[in-house]
Amino acid sequence: MVDSRTIELGGREVALVVRRSARARRLALRIPGHDDSVELVLPPRAAESDGLAFLRSRAGWVIERLERLAPRVAFADGAALPLGGESHVLRHLGGRGAPVRVEGNEILVAGRPDHMARRVGDWLRAEARLRITPATHRMAAEIDREVTRITIRDQKSRWGSCARGGRLSFNWRLVLAPAWVLDYVVAHEVAHIAEPNHSPAFWAVVARLNPDAKAGRAWLRQQGMDLHRYG
Ligand SMILES: [Zn+2]
Repeated sequence: MVDSRTIELGGREVALVVRRSARARRLALRIPGHDDSVELVLPPRAAESDGLAFLRSRAGWVIERLERLAPRVAFADGAALPLGGESHVLRHLGGRGAPVRVEGNEILVAGRPDHMARRVGDWLRAEARLRITPATHRMAAEIDREVTRITIRDQKSRWGSCARGGRLSFNWRLVLAPAWVLDYVVAHEVAHIAEPNHSPAFWAVVARLNPDAKAGRAWLRQQGMDLHRYG
């Protein structure tokens, strides 16, 4: 059960998500980090009023954590965003021609300024597919498995997923990460075609497909949340 609202906390408006969890043992607060929200987790029998009192008693901690989150970066002229882990600057060119192209470390965007954000978003998704698809087929071939579908999604909490029959999904934001991080996620999902669970056998397949897997996983844990700031 999830309920979202806005509350006033320590003099600022905060997006609050209240979630009742059958598994929770005690009241808990989480800062997911992909937006400016705070999550209050209630164990099955806890009163919501107790949860809100708990949240107020920790207002200072919540505000401090929210303020530490890096600001959001909109897809606008002059914005800096990583592409394959390298810093690039978005430039609005106007005029006609290719809607989006990369020159050096600039991403040049044609067309009307009010279309810029959507164009950049569409282009990044397409670019993610271009980079993810060959790596996916190459790794699947290495373990003699088949990928039947690749879907590019915008997910808050996952980098990829693997469904039955070799249908894989990937988060478009991986295009912002270094290529070796993207490769790790591809290896991870491709390995799931052979090994559904996170067993030692699964991790052996991941390591075979991507010798840098440990580093990729660590990078995502430490810096992955930062990729949610863009767009
Ligand atoms: Zn997995």
